[in-house]
Amino acid sequence: MMKIKTRFAPSPTGYLHLGGARTALYAWLFARKLGGEFILRIEDTDFKRSTQQAIDSIIESMNWLKLDIDEGPYFQSKRFKRYNMVIHDMLLTGTAYYCFCSKERLYELRSEQIAKGEKPRYDGRCYKRYKHHIEDKKNPCVVRFRNPQHGKVIFNDLVRGSIEFDNEELDDLIIRRSDGSPTYNFCVVVDDFDMAITHVIRGEDHINNTPRQVSIFKALGAPVPSYAHVSMILDENEHKLSKRNGAVGVMQYRDDGFLPEALLNYLVRLGWSYGNKEIFTIEEMKTLFTLESISKSSSTFNSEKLLWLNNYYINTLEAGYVATYLAWHIEQQGIDIRSGPKLPDLIKLLGPRCKTLKEIAATCRYFYEEFHEVDIHIAKKYLCPLSAVILEVILMKLKLLTEWTPNMVHVTIQETSKKLNIDIGKICMPLRVAITGVTHSPPMHLTAHAIGKSRCIDRIINALTFIKYYEKEKI
Ligand code: GLU
Repeated sequence: MMKIKTRFAPSPTGYLHLGGARTALYAWLFARKLGGEFILRIEDTDFKRSTQQAIDSIIESMNWLKLDIDEGPYFQSKRFKRYNMVIHDMLLTGTAYYCFCSKERLYELRSEQIAKGEKPRYDGRCYKRYKHHIEDKKNPCVVRFRNPQHGKVIFNDLVRGSIEFDNEELDDLIIRRSDGSPTYNFCVVVDDFDMAITHVIRGEDHINNTPRQVSIFKALGAPVPSYAHVSMILDENEHKLSKRNGAVGVMQYRDDGFLPEALLNYLVRLGWSYGNKEIFTIEEMKTLFTLESISKSSSTFNSEKLLWLNNYYINTLEAGYVATYLAWHIEQQGIDIRSGPKLPDLIKLLGPRCKTLKEIAATCRYFYEEFHEVDIHIAKKYLCPLSAVILEVILMKLKLLTEWTPNMVHVTIQETSKKLNIDIGKICMPLRVAITGVTHSPPMHLTAHAIGKSRCIDRIINALTFIKYYEKEKI
């Protein structure tokens, strides 16, 4: 049986954006599902637009998404010798030819064709003159592929069905520029042939390149791969997602606190479905993915859904595993976590309330560090003379606890509420502000338990001191 081989072939002109990541995921899943191979090929023939930074970011993003490769990364820029060898053979066999037409001639030809209402295309003049001509040439010239002149190119797109193009619509494509550099459509074919790619899965923006590529494959006597063109992703304003939009680079999602599992699950559903199923583990994706179920129409990016999935994975993946990703965000916040809850425990506390790991890291400081200031509006509202009464009572009770368990703290809050005949909610708010400095936190008994007894006691005392000082200053 034929060994399935797919590739992801990005041009390194910007970050790996979501559309590219989804293409990579589909090609990876298809290979993994069928026990095939997946390779990475960097298409860096456009020297002006390709950057090392983009290459690094593509590789970093693929690693982060855990889209492992079996070969590569290959670089087109390192394969020029091979491309030129193929061009040399094509010149010999007459499937390619030198073209010496000047810019001026091409311009005139084009203008005439347009004036006649024809589609502008090269007229093949040099084919007749320079077929089989492989001498070194003095004048600058390009090499053109001799496209079949008649008939159709038909290919069966695995997403869209049969697609056909008339050869009369296609002219003789330049495959090597006058500066000696091979062109994009040609390099792709040589690579897909040399790398034994069986399935080309890529964006629909390449559909127009496919007939040209198919004809070059045929001219080389090479097997033509199967094609699957995946539709566009539109942003929330129905515009095409763009590579140059840094905000949608994959690593930006890491920085914003997403888990790779959430992004992969989000991407797999963006243009592919399996019944009504929304949650897919990586293993399920590998088993259930098919090219036939990819949608023909474009998909719209929905950040709410991505956030929902991220929250789901934060709370359902093993906390120890999530902690390995959270650690990086905590580090970004400069929080020293040695004296507070372990990260898996922190995830259990804050995970249900947060949609991203960044949010957990940004709201957890009070578990680890003392705070010396409270927002003035919060202080005015919750650290007032009545709060002092509540805090005095609860402080006394908490001090007496011999066991610092969530349940014991809970019972203490209840007893204080009963004793003062004040709602539990009204007890908890000043207590929360005293202990955390903020108005939102996980349930009070869990928060106090995670912070620890002595720290809670000290913080309540600080709050009481503050209230007294504040009252005195007012007088
Ligand atoms: N290098 C092309 C791109 O980044 C992809 C070419 C292909 O997959 O054939 O859009």
